[in-house]
Amino acid sequence: MSTNQLYAGYQSELADFRLAFSRGGAYTAIVLVLLGVGLDYGQYPQQQLAFGLARVVVSLLIAGVVVMLYSAAGRRFAPWLTLTWLLLPQIMIAWMISQTEGVESPYYVGLNLAIFASGIALPFGLWQNLVFGILSYLLYALACLLHPGGIEPLGTFIVNSLFLLFAAAASGVYTFFNERARFMLFRLKAEVAEKNAELEVINRKLVDIKGQMLQQEKMAAIGTLAAGLLHEVNNPVNFCLMAIEVAMEEPQAKENPSLEECLVDAKQGMQRIQHIVSDLKTFAYRKPGAEVEGTPFLFEKALDSSIRLTAHELRGVKVTRDLPDDTLVLGDEAAVIGVLINLFSNAALAMRKAGTAAPAIHTTVKWAKNRLHVRVQDNGPGIAPENLARVFEPFFTTRDVGQGLGLGLSISYAVIERHGGQLYAESELGQWAAFSFDLPRAE
Ligand code: ADP
Repeated sequence: MSTNQLYAGYQSELADFRLAFSRGGAYTAIVLVLLGVGLDYGQYPQQQLAFGLARVVVSLLIAGVVVMLYSAAGRRFAPWLTLTWLLLPQIMIAWMISQTEGVESPYYVGLNLAIFASGIALPFGLWQNLVFGILSYLLYALACLLHPGGIEPLGTFIVNSLFLLFAAAASGVYTFFNERARFMLFRLKAEVAEKNAELEVINRKLVDIKGQMLQQEKMAAIGTLAAGLLHEVNNPVNFCLMAIEVAMEEPQAKENPSLEECLVDAKQGMQRIQHIVSDLKTFAYRKPGAEVEGTPFLFEKALDSSIRLTAHELRGVKVTRDLPDDTLVLGDEAAVIGVLINLFSNAALAMRKAGTAAPAIHTTVKWAKNRLHVRVQDNGPGIAPENLARVFEPFFTTRDVGQGLGLGLSISYAVIERHGGQLYAESELGQWAAFSFDLPRAE
């Protein structure tokens, strides 16, 4: 954060701080001004009524300033409003001094007290504090001058004047250091906030890495399972297919149409198993680190595989596509299939959940600048704007607890990033959702 930014932030925080202190100080001033009737009782009992009235008027005026402090402009003008309400009791005290003993009135102590209090308790600027101190002193001098006896005795006036001016100076110095300490405190706070934000970023990265590791572990487990399955399933499927072929050549099969139909069905079933097994092969032979270099593969094939692997979820969904002739790309085929499976099953799930009338998914594939751009669009419920940027966050999910980990899209995002591409989401709420990504061309 630059010093200027920091200073602007500090000024803004200070404005709130000043406002709060000004209000609190004003309430205290009202209480003290009213409690001053005790002083009048002790010192000037003959003036009790007039001074009492003056105290009520000044308290009401301070209350009026407090009301202004609560208004919209109050925050902006807080320092000047504070100066105004601070001066009100000073004017009152000066008037009382002029009405009573002038230079010899002990009430000048009240002026002194206010100068100290403003320096210590109010987050005033240095200049405002000095102005307040000097104005208070001028009020005192004026009060003594207006007193019928004039400035007498001069010695006492000089002593009182010096005390008042010392108070103003001390209060100014205090404010100066107070201000610096406050700024340092604010800077520390800003630094802590900055560090916290950095920690937050690191935390997110860790969650990201954790998600990727989880996915890698999952893929490794699928790989082991797929390798075992391949071994166990391939042979029986192959000899079943051979046996079916042989059976179909038998004269009984050729003469019996229903038997032939059964054999054709059995053959088709076996071929489907063969396809699924070959889809799983991509995972089984997945070598760690292969994605870094990447191998050429036909995107069209990956698309076919992923549609077959999600056939169950895509039941009832119209799946269409638009492909160029050549779709040879470079990368990690299994991971790209994983991305497509995720996009298809997310779309299918969202449409099923929303009860979309004629669910459809359309995949558009195009070449642009040596990269294959893929866009998978569904006509489901779409994604709310506030969620659109969040769908790639690890563990973000709108599914019920225990239904989805919310890792699918974040991992897909990382997969596409590894291919030098970008996965992004677009949507019109209630109309459609589309996910696009790009892959490099195999040279
Ligand atoms: P999961 O599927 O486990 O929730 P994902 O990371 O795959 O995790 O998806 C995150 C969220 O993105 C989903 O919970 C859903 O709210 C939203 N989403 C993803 N694809 C779609 C889509 N095609 N239509 C509507 N919402 C979607």
